[in-house]
Amino acid sequence: MSQINETEWIWRDGNFVRWADATIHVLSHSVQYGSAVFEGIRCYSTNQGPAIFRLQSHFERMMGSCKIYRMDPPWTVEQLVEAAKELVRRNNMSACYLRPMVLRGYGASSMVPFASPIETFLPCWPWGAYLGAGAHEDGVDAQVSSWNRVAPNTIPTMAKIAGNYLSGMLVKMQALADGYAEGISLGPDGMLSEASGANLFLVKNGRIFTAPVDGTLLPGITRDTILTLAGDVQVPLNVQEMPRESLYLADEVFFCGTAVEITPVRSVDKIPVGKGKPGPVTRALQERFRQTVTGEIPDAHGWLTHVN
Ligand code: PMP
Repeated sequence: MSQINETEWIWRDGNFVRWADATIHVLSHSVQYGSAVFEGIRCYSTNQGPAIFRLQSHFERMMGSCKIYRMDPPWTVEQLVEAAKELVRRNNMSACYLRPMVLRGYGASSMVPFASPIETFLPCWPWGAYLGAGAHEDGVDAQVSSWNRVAPNTIPTMAKIAGNYLSGMLVKMQALADGYAEGISLGPDGMLSEASGANLFLVKNGRIFTAPVDGTLLPGITRDTILTLAGDVQVPLNVQEMPRESLYLADEVFFCGTAVEITPVRSVDKIPVGKGKPGPVTRALQERFRQTVTGEIPDAHGWLTHVN
């Protein structure tokens, strides 16, 4: 199970505080109601030192999540980028996971949140393969969850906010209890949506498929990365709705996200995906992704923020 590995410093609203001092009150609005916007970002080791992947995009999405929830943190994306670089340097990380959070603090007692201050935190810690050792190489076993994703215009899934993860938690716990590494959710209309903490891609007859941004899934930054990398490796791509059974007919299936990176799925509901092993398109994308994040190939898309 993934556990947080402590580091020394956390950036908190313009200052660096010790790990143990980054505390909030138990009655903070975010604790009561789940109103904490956040991001998950990876910093990779490169031969020019640590580089944070798509840092700007993550902070832009975070500001978008804040906007949806009428939160107005007093920081610009540029200031947060500088804070993130300084954080990685101070904590002496060569590679790590960053978890910015904008939350509503202590004050408001009800659904009206405005009496609570907006507080911004930026921690980081070392984090390896999210779905366990061997997941990237061998693939994982997944199930279709009995928990659907939320319907459009109920809770906005384009916002990455703590409360949304109640859904993901149910999906993930059910998958683990049933002996799977991950669960795949359908949207309310029964079409494929996403995994508990990752987007979903299928490969069929040499084409890549993923679900559209339909109000049931988080538009992942890794998903967006793959939409570009597919062009780089010259694999045609369709963004379209897909029924559940396309999982069983796919040649390849993979998850993508900051935490899972690109993780092949070798079976769904105990039905082997293709030959039950990661396939060539997934492999090619994994390799291109690895070369991209580690700076082994030129950063043609401007995705790396070097820390030093
Ligand atoms: N969907 C959900 C529900 C997620 O939590 C994540 C991880 N942030 C993703 C998709 C993938 O998003 P990203 O590639 O931006 O990490």
